[in-house]
Amino acid sequence: MAGHKSVINRREFLGTLVASGCSLWIPSASSAPNGPSHSPQADHDSAIRDAIKKAENFEHDYRDDIYLERRQLRLLRQCLQRLTRVQQYVGYGNFNLIDLDRARRYARLYSAIGEFTAAEMAFIESIYHVDAQQYGFLGKRLSASLTDTIQRRDVRKIPGSGHYLYRGEALAVYEKMRKRIGTQLELTSGIRGVVKQLHLFLAKASKSGGNLSRAARSLAPPGHSYHGIGDFDVGQRGLGAANFTSAFSKTGIYRQLLDMGLIKMRYPYANPYGVRHEPWHIKVVKDA
Ligand SMILES: [Zn+2]
Repeated sequence: MAGHKSVINRREFLGTLVASGCSLWIPSASSAPNGPSHSPQADHDSAIRDAIKKAENFEHDYRDDIYLERRQLRLLRQCLQRLTRVQQYVGYGNFNLIDLDRARRYARLYSAIGEFTAAEMAFIESIYHVDAQQYGFLGKRLSASLTDTIQRRDVRKIPGSGHYLYRGEALAVYEKMRKRIGTQLELTSGIRGVVKQLHLFLAKASKSGGNLSRAARSLAPPGHSYHGIGDFDVGQRGLGAANFTSAFSKTGIYRQLLDMGLIKMRYPYANPYGVRHEPWHIKVVKDA
């Protein structure tokens, strides 16, 4: 028997996007059996088991993954390019904090960016508001609204990194690490507002050919990232983008952090969020 719940979820998901002018292309194998469902709890447990299994091979396309249809993928890429132009205008560091209203204001004011079209805004709204569980991301929604803002007085810029941390616990945890490990440890990603997370998620979904499920195995969808409320990523200076791969877990920095008991991992293997193992991501805030 076909996975009844998962078919309904897809229909609801489709409905949400259609309501905002969006629709999805769903692979023909999407009605593949998911096993019998007994209760919401059993469904939830089975969704977690499924997500954990898929996260082992997070870059793989699975046959029940959720894809954007072609027209929506084009729209996604249009939004992505416009957001990239906003980032070029405000600078890499500021882009971590910018809110959507401000991004739209700059887009309207500067012809080099160009105003967001109504279709792009509808797409952004639908990507933000849709229930991400329906494409396999099991974490909670953590931001209150698409237009959430980050107050400058609440954050501190970390010199030389292009990133920010919240004053208070996040900053204290990072400073303790730097004190113990030294300058070989660097902040590779700190606070990320909704716009920054949206940009990252759209970039990942674009690279994944519109496969939202695959994108969400590597990256929390906008509004669902703990980077919005305090978590941060660390790496070894000079390692570059490899800091966001399994190479990081082979570095001296990682070994030292572990030995000193300074790593609290948000995304260990088999985590309940459906996200790949991320040894570089430091958990600061409690689970939502
Ligand atoms: Zn992270």
